[in-house]
Order: sequence, then structure tokens, then C-alpha cells
Amino acid sequence: MFDASPRPGTVYLVGAGPGSPDLLTLRAARLVMEAKLIVHDGLVDPAILAMASPRARLVSVAKRRSRHSVPQDAIEALLVREALAGRDVVRLKGGDPFVFGRGGEELEACRAAGVPVEVVPGISAALGAAAAAQLPLTHRDHASVVSFVAGQCKGLGEQNWAGLAGVGRTLVIYMGVASAEAIADKLIADGLSPVMPVAVIENAARPEMRVLHASLAGLGAMVVERKVVSPAVIVVGEVTAQRDAAALRALAEMPSLEFGA
Ligand code: SAH
Repeated sequence: MFDASPRPGTVYLVGAGPGSPDLLTLRAARLVMEAKLIVHDGLVDPAILAMASPRARLVSVAKRRSRHSVPQDAIEALLVREALAGRDVVRLKGGDPFVFGRGGEELEACRAAGVPVEVVPGISAALGAAAAAQLPLTHRDHASVVSFVAGQCKGLGEQNWAGLAGVGRTLVIYMGVASAEAIADKLIADGLSPVMPVAVIENAARPEMRVLHASLAGLGAMVVERKVVSPAVIVVGEVTAQRDAAALRALAEMPSLEFGA
């Protein structure tokens, strides 16, 4: 019997890292440059999209916290439809596709439809931000545990973070800017010291990066006063106060950096 359906294309779930094109993996850079179709999130830096061929079709499925311009199931349907029509799709996501990136859901949708998938890891915001701000997430003297959590308002009260932050531990909170005050209250209620040092790294690995410091109790007010915007990660733990003299000098030479309370 004659089968008219083409061989499906591959969906590449690609991590675009925190910002700068220099932080792409070589595999991601090659896929972006060779792609005919790129489906990307709002977090993907324009400089990365500019690497695509002028003939490539770029589809934005940008999301905003309160306004999902393209629902997740519509994104999945788009990926599957294009792949089943025989086209390869580069699905570009900020950071890493499997860290708060819904990569798992897109992987499942493709698998269910019989579409081959390749996953290309990216530098997740926690790692990019820590490197750019020169804050080690672990340190033999200060932290031997590091955790990543999502700080969206929805369900914050139900999330159990007990034991994730404290002495000897580093907690990195994604998507936490809008609920920074509630996050600080939650951690203090869990037993964390109100004077635990915190850093907020906004627009990590981008020219407009800011690194701001506060105590846990002062986090909510600092975020408001300094008008912190998304994307930013909140890092809670002693490592944020362990900047040695050399790192401090290097940071001080960067004009966009500010040191808060
Ligand atoms: N998959 C992404 C995370 C997506 S969730 C990753 O692995 O990084 C979106 C959150 O990521 C933002 O709310 C913010 O907390 C964080 N984020 C992404 N890019 C960032 C950047 N350049 N600087 C600081 N935080 C960033």
C-alpha cells in the first residue's frame, strides 16, 4: 500500500541559556543557524534569534506571567503538526528546557504523536546568574546543598520548602520577583533567620544585569525600592555574602552593578 504521509521531522527542544549568544552550546548554535523553523519563548534574547537564517520562519509563543499569549496545548499542537508535516522544528527556550521550561510536557506530546525529539541542554538561569554575579552556588566552607524552586504566587503556600534553605544551603528561586515578600515571609515562617543574606540577580548574562543584596527580612522592600523586574533569580544563602576582595573589585568595575542594602 502507498503511504502518502511524509516521514516526521524532528523536534529539537533547545536550551538558549540566560541571554548572551556566547552562552549557547555549540549544538544549540548550529541548530539555530541551520533551522528553517524556530518556535521560541519571550525569554530568548534577540541576539540569539538574530543568528537564524534570514529565510528561517520564527514563531514567537511568548508568555507573560498573567497573560499566556499561546496556551501550552496550542504550542504542543503546533510542534506536532509541523513535525508530522515533515518539518524539523527548533523549539528554543530560555535557560534549560527541563528546568521550569515545560520541556517535559512538550517531550510527552511529541512522543505520544510518534514525533522524534532531541533535547539540547542550556545554561539554566541559576547557573548563568551565579557565574555572571560571581556568587558560587556551593562552596566547601559555606554550602554543600543547592536547590532550585519556582516562586510563582499560585500555590506558593502549598509548596514545602522546609530544609531547602538555611545554614550550609543555597536556595535559588525562579519566577519569584512578583511574590518576593511572600517568599521571604514563608522562609522566615519555616525557621530561617531574618538576617540571612539574599542576592537578586536581574537580567543575568545580559548587558543590563543588576546584582542587588538584602537580608531576607528586607527582600520585599528592596525589590520594590529598586524596581526589580523579571527576569530575575533570588538567591538565598550565605554564599551571597561571601564575595572575596578580588571578586568584589571585579564587580565594582562593571558600571551596571549596584550594591543594595
Ligand atoms: N528554563 C529557564 C527558566 C524559565 S522560568 C531556565 O532554565 O533558566 C523563567 C524564570 O527564569 C524567570 O522568571 C527568572 O527567574 C529566570 N530567568 C531566566 N532568564 C534569566 C536571566 N537572564 N536572569 C535572571 N533570571 C532569569
